[in-house]
Amino acid sequence: MWKALVFLLAGVLPAQQYPVEPYPDNTERWEGDNGFSRGFGMTNHAYSFDWFDSHAHLAYSHFPTRLRGGQIQEVMDRWFRMTGMYQSGRAILMDPYLETMEWARDDPRIYVFWWLKWEQSDQLPEIQRRVKEGLVQGLKLHSGDFRKNANSDYRVMGTPAWHSIYAYCEQAELPIVLHLNQHWGDQRYTYGKGSKEFWARVGYTNQQLLDYFLSEMAAKHPKVKWVLTHMNFQGNESLARLFDRYPNLYVDTSIGMFLREFDTLSPEEIKPYRDFCIRYADRLMFGTDAFAYQPLESAYPGHLQNWWLPHQLFIMQLRLPQKTLEQITHGTAEALLGKYAKRAVKR
Ligand SMILES: [Zn+2]
Repeated sequence: MWKALVFLLAGVLPAQQYPVEPYPDNTERWEGDNGFSRGFGMTNHAYSFDWFDSHAHLAYSHFPTRLRGGQIQEVMDRWFRMTGMYQSGRAILMDPYLETMEWARDDPRIYVFWWLKWEQSDQLPEIQRRVKEGLVQGLKLHSGDFRKNANSDYRVMGTPAWHSIYAYCEQAELPIVLHLNQHWGDQRYTYGKGSKEFWARVGYTNQQLLDYFLSEMAAKHPKVKWVLTHMNFQGNESLARLFDRYPNLYVDTSIGMFLREFDTLSPEEIKPYRDFCIRYADRLMFGTDAFAYQPLESAYPGHLQNWWLPHQLFIMQLRLPQKTLEQITHGTAEALLGKYAKRAVKR
């Protein structure tokens, strides 16, 4: 019946004008009840019913905003109540605190990637313990740590101690999320502030940083699943070249795919993103970089509307084929987690 419907529609509309297949629910209305409701609700087009945010934060983790015990429960329950309206039920939190990890261990909605600082390269035994005990399902590293230091040498990423950690991640199939490259110009649309002072101070470029990562980390640890955050602040074309060359690279969509409520993308804007998403769906993960907890001092009130939702809206406006949509919204994140995936959440 379903195939027949697709065939029927395909006869009426050229595929490129009808990229999103009607959701299977609609076929019931089409055929059932002697066809009484045929045509009703045909605008309820296909949708992902399982959005998995692969890059979220409990709080301002790069500030010492630390939530505890019942507070974490309250904040996360509230967050999923809000994002659940948009069919989101799972998230990976980038977090440095053991208490968050202990709290999240038995919650099937939440994964924690341990946010380590570069000076914590002696933590391999503790990483192994936390992985074994189900406290963390990945690591998170951020080039901001060495960018903030007076000595901002990026080669801290390639010390023997860090190579031991990468080798362990490779063997243990533990993913690593890495915020590597950085904004160049200011990008006010996404609240992005360029790092002019930083770039003026250091003696290297984004490209050199990327080259170092590729040769010293990605190439030497070809089985580590490396996730470059924020689409690594690169365009689709240069990312495509990287994906073709390094099969162990992924990116999350945060900041890179962002559209404010009531804005629209033109067909010319949609096409390159849509093509890119279809081609590299198994490397792209929906991620928002949103904070589940909204601190009073935040300059961006409402992380749901002003941060989480714009990432979802962008993807929805691409009118992706159902298969691509399912992949980007949760399939790639599930594949990335692999054996660390928790039992399915009953919805
Ligand atoms: Zn983040």
